[in-house]
Amino acid sequence: MRLNSLVLLLFLTAACKEPAPPASAAIYAIAPATHVSTWDQNLLGRPLPARIEPATEPLLDYIRRWNESDGFQAVPKPARMDAKDKEALARELSNLPPPVLKLLQKHVITIATVEDLGGSAMAGAAFDDRGEFPFGFLILDINMFKRNANQWISYKENTVFQPEPGTSYTVTLEPEVSNTRIAGMRFVILHELGHIIAQVTRSLPAFTDRRPDRNKFPFARTFDEFPLRGRIKFYADKPPFSVMEAERLYSEFSPTRFPTLYSCVDEEEDFSETFALYIHTVLMKKPYEVKLIEKGKTTVLARDRILLPQMKEKRDFIARILEK
Ligand SMILES: [Zn+2]
Repeated sequence: MRLNSLVLLLFLTAACKEPAPPASAAIYAIAPATHVSTWDQNLLGRPLPARIEPATEPLLDYIRRWNESDGFQAVPKPARMDAKDKEALARELSNLPPPVLKLLQKHVITIATVEDLGGSAMAGAAFDDRGEFPFGFLILDINMFKRNANQWISYKENTVFQPEPGTSYTVTLEPEVSNTRIAGMRFVILHELGHIIAQVTRSLPAFTDRRPDRNKFPFARTFDEFPLRGRIKFYADKPPFSVMEAERLYSEFSPTRFPTLYSCVDEEEDFSETFALYIHTVLMKKPYEVKLIEKGKTTVLARDRILLPQMKEKRDFIARILEK
């Protein structure tokens, strides 16, 4: 009897206690960058190159809040993109498929540049008094893009795998002829644009939502589980897997509806990766290939997963957004 009462008491305590709101809700309640009133909305009418500028204080404040919440030591500083790079990036973006360029022009108020971000890039969205998100902002760490596109994506994915002598894990995002630093920036901009579009279109719970119910959102319902998923962590101090485990991880990952390993992190990253890969592979016909090279023997672990039959529902979801 005593035990039962205790169990009941514990059950009631657990049932009555509200889960802690997500970190985004706490940050969006106070960070000025997340409210439309902080922004000069005339910027949305200006050409994209005029929006590529060093980060201003509200954005530095936004990054500092996230770094504190995620336990990252990095302290961001504004940085100016080299004039030639800025011109090349603006040209690269102007060549995006028209519906994508339209979304970028309409919903990205700035592409702010920094150094010491604590990652490659990040995004946020600004809400108005009706709780809608009409636009967002994008932040790029220019120092992360001293590598070309394939070096950058391989570096990022290798933060999951502890290296072993004689074995390498590589990702190809660009054919050799277009494997530039600017192409890497374009890919990361597509991914970050995905985070903003998820908010603008309400494809996922609002960043301001203190008690998000992910099951209400059709996109979140295609999020698959598999046993090794919980161990995947990017940018960890110590990679969670040995590269010798890559094949085992991919054998569990292969039947799922994730376009990339990074999309397994959570629903937000899954949406952004699916959005970016749809544009990258379906619209722009570019590769996404993951290879393991072991003592001279090459194994393809994944290739253009966004085109797989099980990805149809997700492809259709993104296609509908781009058609609007
Ligand atoms: Zn992301």
